[in-house]
Amino acid sequence: MTPTVAIIGRPNVGKSTLFNRLVGRKLALVDDRPGVTRDRREGEATLGHLTFPVFDTAGLEEADDGTLAGRMRQQTETAIADSDIVLFVIDARVGVTPADRQFAELVRRSGKPVILIANKAEGKIGLDGAYEAFSLGLGDPVPFSAEHGEGTADLLEALMPYF
Ligand code: GDP
Ligand code: MG
Repeated sequence: MTPTVAIIGRPNVGKSTLFNRLVGRKLALVDDRPGVTRDRREGEATLGHLTFPVFDTAGLEEADDGTLAGRMRQQTETAIADSDIVLFVIDARVGVTPADRQFAELVRRSGKPVILIANKAEGKIGLDGAYEAFSLGLGDPVPFSAEHGEGTADLLEALMPYF
């Protein structure tokens, strides 16, 4: 069965940009059920020869001040529970923050397979942050640029074993 992929991470790391890049024009639907999942966007991702359902966790960024608010934690936990594979995104330019570590703990506790994406890693500047991401203990980070479309071959390679 085709695995479902969730994109999680603290606000502003580039989750929605990654979602848009994976889904392109094929954005299927906006889920407007009430509650914690109301801002979840779902779509059909295409990456190389793979297609798979993906969802973005979103919506609380506007209200969030950078702390891991309870609602955000709840939304993320639900997203992890509903997925088969987690794409955990950090900002390679900022490096690893306390909020990133809290998200990492949520993912770890879930036991779900996780691919760590060090986003905004275009150019040299991002590589230090990508390196720092090793310290999260979630395996090799995939240096990525959702905005520039760099790193898709490595992401494809990381996803392949689950298909
Ligand atoms: P989200 O809050 O995690 O969904 O993050 P967004 O996708 O809304 O992106 C937050 C900001 O980061 C926006 O200004 C994006 O343009 C920017 N951004 C996203 N991906 C990249 C990237 O690969 N490189 C750079 N430099 N900026 C990016
Ligand atoms: Mg977003």
